[in-house]
Amino acid sequence: MEYRELGHTGLEISRLCFGALTIGPLQRGLSPQQGSEVLRRALELGVNFIDTAELYQTYDHIRLALQGFQSQRSVVVTTKSYAYTKEGMLRSLEEALAGLGLDCIPIFMLHEQESSHTLRGHWPALEVLWEAKKAGVVKAVGISTHHVGGVLAASTIPEIDVISPLINSTGIGIQGGSKGEMLAAIIQAHKVGKGIVAMKPLGGGHLLADWASSLDYLLMRPAIDSIAVGMKAISEVEHNVAFFEGRRDLPAPEPATRRLHIDDWCIGCGACVNACPNGALALQDGKAKVVFPEECVFCGYCGASCPEFAIKVI
Ligand code: SF4
Ligand code: SF4
Repeated sequence: MEYRELGHTGLEISRLCFGALTIGPLQRGLSPQQGSEVLRRALELGVNFIDTAELYQTYDHIRLALQGFQSQRSVVVTTKSYAYTKEGMLRSLEEALAGLGLDCIPIFMLHEQESSHTLRGHWPALEVLWEAKKAGVVKAVGISTHHVGGVLAASTIPEIDVISPLINSTGIGIQGGSKGEMLAAIIQAHKVGKGIVAMKPLGGGHLLADWASSLDYLLMRPAIDSIAVGMKAISEVEHNVAFFEGRRDLPAPEPATRRLHIDDWCIGCGACVNACPNGALALQDGKAKVVFPEECVFCGYCGASCPEFAIKVI
């Protein structure tokens, strides 16, 4: 496994990052015990970087995986919150520390930042994170984004250490610009010292048929320090680790059979439409509909926003 220093954070991370969305209730729905076994296998094989978020509800899975795990290399967990107020971020921070069973969160990010406007709107939450960093409760502060503008805006703020942008070989899911513009923004961010953690390398499963070339597309880029790959089974972990260690004779994983399911009891409130970062949903005849299926990266954010539990990735 190759390791890199993540920007100027002093954190050394594996280039394969375990994307923990997939094991949680928004996707595969593994129990904390089952999820921890998948994660633990990744840790045993040298993956020392785990990406989660408050939204993903996987703190229990990660805490169990870390319990008693010994390694010369520290495990780096990154989490994210949508909090935009001081109080909200203080709550998120407490929840993460308790949920993960850690005294210090290695990386804490603002979830889903679109531009300098959204960053300004989240300033009180950012100030909490910067104070927490001074106090040694957080080691690095970052943002995640599907938007080219989010990467560009974060690049100009010296106190933001890490950026997690959506990038993949076809550009599926990138907002506010083309794939080329996102790559240019990432290179610029890397040049000014930001650690870069790529997300959605397989477009939420759309690119599984081109699994190897899609991962190589990101692995060959010096500006990308690590790539978060969602994994939900020990076999997937072993497959991905082998690939990241240089094996190129592996079969492609089984094609994804995921789809979005919307139940009849949808009340047409529109919360999921607003929550979708990719504009894949719309209201039609008083119900939510997937109007641009090719834009859906199966992030599960729509499901998390639904007051009726009527929409989910299955
Ligand atoms: S439709 Fe739902 S799962 Fe698909 S991209 Fe939008 S929020 Fe994510
Ligand atoms: S959030 Fe739920 S109830 Fe509201 S429109 Fe979407 S699926 Fe329907």
